[in-house]
Amino acid sequence: MVQIVNNKLFSGISPKELLEATYKASENFQVRAFFEAKEEILKTGKYSEQEFYEILDTMIDAETERKIVLDQLRGKKPLFLEEITKSIKAFLAENVIRDVIYLKEQGYVEEQVEIKTKTVIKKIKGEEKEVEEKEYFYRYQVKEVPHDFTEHYFEPVSIVFDSGVCCYCGWCSSVCPVNAIEVTADNLEIDDNICMKCGLCFTVCPRSFSIDQAYQSIKKLDKSLTYSEKIGGYINAYTGTTTKDEIKKVRQDGGIVTSLLEYLLENKLVDAIIAVQHSSDLWRPEPIIIDDVKDLYKTGGTKYANAPSLKIIDQAKKYNKIAIVGVPCMMKAIEKGTLFPSGLPFFKNIKYKVGLFCMESFSYLDIIKLAKDKFNQDINELTKMNIDKGKFIITLKSGEELAVDLKEVQSYARDNCHYCEDLTSDYADISVGSIGSQSGYSSVITRSKEGEEIFKGAVDAGLIEYQNLKEVKPGQGLVERIAISKRKKCKPIILETQKE
Ligand SMILES: Cc1cc2nc3c(=O)[nH]c(=O)nc-3n(C[C@H](O)[C@H](O)[C@H](O)COP(=O)(O)OP(=O)(O)OC[C@H]3O[C@@H](n4cnc5c(N)ncnc54)[C@H](O)[C@@H]3O)c2cc1C
Ligand code: SF4
Ligand code: SF4
Ligand code: SF4
Repeated sequence: MVQIVNNKLFSGISPKELLEATYKASENFQVRAFFEAKEEILKTGKYSEQEFYEILDTMIDAETERKIVLDQLRGKKPLFLEEITKSIKAFLAENVIRDVIYLKEQGYVEEQVEIKTKTVIKKIKGEEKEVEEKEYFYRYQVKEVPHDFTEHYFEPVSIVFDSGVCCYCGWCSSVCPVNAIEVTADNLEIDDNICMKCGLCFTVCPRSFSIDQAYQSIKKLDKSLTYSEKIGGYINAYTGTTTKDEIKKVRQDGGIVTSLLEYLLENKLVDAIIAVQHSSDLWRPEPIIIDDVKDLYKTGGTKYANAPSLKIIDQAKKYNKIAIVGVPCMMKAIEKGTLFPSGLPFFKNIKYKVGLFCMESFSYLDIIKLAKDKFNQDINELTKMNIDKGKFIITLKSGEELAVDLKEVQSYARDNCHYCEDLTSDYADISVGSIGSQSGYSSVITRSKEGEEIFKGAVDAGLIEYQNLKEVKPGQGLVERIAISKRKKCKPIILETQKE
């Protein structure tokens, strides 16, 4: 039997089952909070009435689907996500996976973790040694809950901020339907008088609950991808450089990012791009919307201070198709918005995610301090900062380069970066960094059909020259080694309520 509800298919579900699930979905706290705040939401002007109902509609559909998945999972023994997708055929496998993870957060499903130890042979300082490695296995089962159980309520993201783990990506601020959140590069404030306690900000925040298990299982389903524990799911890995002299003047490494963005704008694959430029304070990055190629070059080059780029996404709503450049935590934030609460009902115009590699970032004030302490330089004298071959390197206006060991500057990095496990922007369509490539080149990892297409499109347009990353030294091996060491060092995120 196939039910068509709001143009979506609920196949193999009986009308009774569907009706009950829809009724339960309408009682969900997020759906209710959103519905009840209709007037306030429309007053902010963020969404038109039609958009408001479209969002509500997708929220109810997603919640209905979850209730059906919950019912079909009841009474089953603990199962791996892959096994669950085989046993529940009513929905796409990736939907079932995201539903189970969300049901866990709602308090209906428990996650059981089994740890096994295996012995592997590793080359350490040229010598082969036996090393013990832990492997983690995650299974999921519906919990026995009391009859009067109420599903978990999601807090606003002040809880993430108060726990000291907010990475200031800015996503919650764009998503909040009543504009209650103000995020800067180092602060987050919620206006309690406006907040309607819908918890949507918490749902999409990359630092609230983890989507790592969902991500891994979904990527493993996609047979067009190679899945690596170190660098995530990918199609190809390249090393490349721009062919354009104007881009060479402003680029950080291979100028790949600027070349890709130029290709996207010139070929009208997007109407606008969200990137960062220097603000009136040199080296303090400022998020910017670019809709004209002539403004693109001012975004070239890495600013190592963080900027909450995602907070301006809602300002780009007027464009039909946009691309976003950002660090891994931002790519994860958008992916979370795509999975939850209902398949990216908020900013459907995001077409391409161009991710950067990122080991850590710094607050603007700490960058100034670093330049003074380690190089005895005023920040305004710097024309470039770079991390290469284990060194933090600055270039002065005179052209002189000064370097210190990377270890010496690591204490200046933001604390909240220590909760970040992703070096290579696993959640992007295409990821770009310097590790693995020669100077003047960037390492590029394509992770989706779209990412591969735009890379090859820019190559065909004569903007980029490339080779396979495995054909060069230090190559993909180094990217993988540094990526896994970042994962191992990452601190677990514990929110204030979980500490009690
Ligand atoms: C904070 C930070 C840390 C990094 N750490 C590493 C690292 O450890 N290892 C590594 O291999 N690579 C790292 N990178 C990536 C690397 O510095 C280059 O950005 C990447 O190699 C692309 O070079 P490109 O020449 O192709 O980019 P370009 O063509 O020069 O374009 C650079 C793009 O980066 C964007 N950008 C610059 N600064 C920021 C920022 N603060 N936030 C968001 N977007 C920004 C610009 O908008 C521009 O679109 C880091 C980047 C950042 C922003
Ligand atoms: S969405 Fe980003 S800015 Fe907002 S609380 Fe989470 S990490 Fe911080
Ligand atoms: S701050 Fe968060 S909980 Fe409050 S209205 Fe905005 S999105 Fe909803
Ligand atoms: S290390 Fe992680 S949290 Fe810090 S800026 Fe980079 S991606 Fe964001």
